[in-house]
Amino acid sequence: MSRLAFSDLRTAAYCPRKLYYVRQEDDREPPPRVPQIRALATQYERLLEASDTALAGEPIETTPSVYRAQLCHTRDRLQDTTCSRPESEQPQNRWEALCSPAETDVFVAGRDCHGIVHKILTDPLEPVLISAGSPPDQGVWETQRVHAVAAAKALAWDRGEPVGGAWLEFPAYGVIRHVPMTTRRKGEYRRVLRTVQELDGPPPRLHNREKCHACAYADTCGVRTRSLRSLLGFG
Ligand code: SF4
Repeated sequence: MSRLAFSDLRTAAYCPRKLYYVRQEDDREPPPRVPQIRALATQYERLLEASDTALAGEPIETTPSVYRAQLCHTRDRLQDTTCSRPESEQPQNRWEALCSPAETDVFVAGRDCHGIVHKILTDPLEPVLISAGSPPDQGVWETQRVHAVAAAKALAWDRGEPVGGAWLEFPAYGVIRHVPMTTRRKGEYRRVLRTVQELDGPPPRLHNREKCHACAYADTCGVRTRSLRSLLGFG
């Protein structure tokens, strides 16, 4: 079976039917602002020193003072290895590695999937994915969990070394989060992988209206029409 693109897994984690539409339209170009936001992720030290005026000219999504405070908090958290938590729960001192990664924009191919990882950290080996969007209140979004596990497994296969987790950066917000490889997350990844491998024709619509309302394919999918019909008592 051929390898799947990371982006297909990420889309299917949101909704398998959405992946069906994406594949039909071959709609995979990132919006124009994405490369500019990703570029912030290699300039954190400069951004920490930048004036409010300079920060206001960057593609950030908060005010300059909020951005600086958040990035400062991120740096301090990632440099803090002196807390009293057990070793396995301690944050890793990864700030410097994230600011000066061993490799950037690397194509990695695993047993089941492939794609670009935006940074590679060493000691321990871990991939970094950069999101142009906003972070959730805690952790990362469901689609990003699946993408992170896919990237970690592909990197481990590619380099022949175990990988214990992945990092998600949200540079427009100054937020960086770790995604450890847990049994639950690996199970979630395997379920999505199987769904994509078995995709044959349009999968059923989701019942999750929140996801459908935010979906670019709501009209194509017929969800909006169905909602109107439901409102009118025909659905
Ligand atoms: S509108 Fe809903 S069911 Fe249809 S593709 Fe989008 S998320 Fe999936």
